[in-house]
Amino acid sequence: MSENSEVIENKYKDIIEQIANNLGLDVPRLSNGSLQMCCPFHKESNPSFGINMTTGEYHCFTCGAKGHISKFSNNLMVHIVAETIEDIDNFKVSTKVDTTKNYTVKPNKSETASIQNRLKSMENIMKFKICDLITLIIRGHTVCASGNNRNDDWEMAQLWMLDFDNKDSNYTMEDVLDYAKSINLIPTFAYYSFSNTKKVPKFRFVYCFKEPITSKKRMQAIVDNLLKLFEDYSVDKSRRNLSSLFFGTNFDNDVFTSNYIYSIRFTDEQLDKLDSIIGTTTKTSNASKKYEEMAQDIIDKYHIKRTHDNLLYYYDKFTGVHIKDDNRQIERFIKKEYHLLKRAREEVKEFIELTDNIDFVECSPEFVACKNVILNMKTLETQPFNPTIVITNKVNAEYIPFNPSMKNDFVDNFMTDVTCRKQRIRTTYL
Ligand SMILES: [Zn+2]
Repeated sequence: MSENSEVIENKYKDIIEQIANNLGLDVPRLSNGSLQMCCPFHKESNPSFGINMTTGEYHCFTCGAKGHISKFSNNLMVHIVAETIEDIDNFKVSTKVDTTKNYTVKPNKSETASIQNRLKSMENIMKFKICDLITLIIRGHTVCASGNNRNDDWEMAQLWMLDFDNKDSNYTMEDVLDYAKSINLIPTFAYYSFSNTKKVPKFRFVYCFKEPITSKKRMQAIVDNLLKLFEDYSVDKSRRNLSSLFFGTNFDNDVFTSNYIYSIRFTDEQLDKLDSIIGTTTKTSNASKKYEEMAQDIIDKYHIKRTHDNLLYYYDKFTGVHIKDDNRQIERFIKKEYHLLKRAREEVKEFIELTDNIDFVECSPEFVACKNVILNMKTLETQPFNPTIVITNKVNAEYIPFNPSMKNDFVDNFMTDVTCRKQRIRTTYL
């Protein structure tokens, strides 16, 4: 074997090991001049996926997946990223549910122990239609995603739940769903948990996967990946034990369902990392279309407008006025919305700055934002704050309509003086 092929050999070996580590796959083993591992494109327990260390070609003898390692992350992404499952009514997810007992309030410690025992004695993992699973959850039944509540005999999981129950968090379910949408990771369904209150929202995102995940290591990587993606939204990061129990909820609580089931997909950042390892780029025209949509979401959410000076203005919901973006606030909005997607942030920023899709609006000089309402100076009519009216001026006082019964002698005398006792002038400017 020449020295050159040995270098290439090592190069591919390193690349494969890094990819495997990043994605929580088994690390490949060297056998007969090629690297062997369990196929990441299909479910198997004996490795039939080989990578030729001289050419960099990979091939699975069981499912037929093949290609060059430089396209590996792209191909794997296309495979894993869910096409929408159209036949959601017939899609079934394998998991364990304590179907014998339901609760109307959060189970206490001894009840939790009974739930655990019942799940432990349950022999088979069952398959549930999504709608049936939702029904069981809103009737207060407990789910154990891993199929067994003892971590040491973990079998598989086809769903995972993220807990948002931080009492210091200000995020609502809608906030987190918006974020989930921005990273294309909409949960299959989401529900408010037992301890939810109007003041402190507590809820759970349920992710169903296309296939049961049978590798414990891979499942843990998926769970940790999910937790990391939502860490800025006060997800309960301590919930990473694969044998976690997830309680159901009260029938009165709302359940959010998406029309589609999304399986796990990797973040742009992870893909960038993979790209940098194998030296390819996943950028496509499809991606730039995605950035346009992401930019439009920012424009809509923050009511970004241009006015006469052709500069960008954003709506400040606290003061009710549009503020000129000379302090890079829009950049901070983008960062807040897409904080994990570095490349996307730059594309979105550029799109917002260059686009003519942003409404050009005249500032309406007759409107003044007071502390409490918007006042039309011409008609003296008031209306609540409204981001569609572009106002850039604010009066830092409350507007209180004139009321004859609130006559004040001091003000009255003052007005009489300054208008030189001319009634016509006084009433005009009152
Ligand atoms: Zn395969």
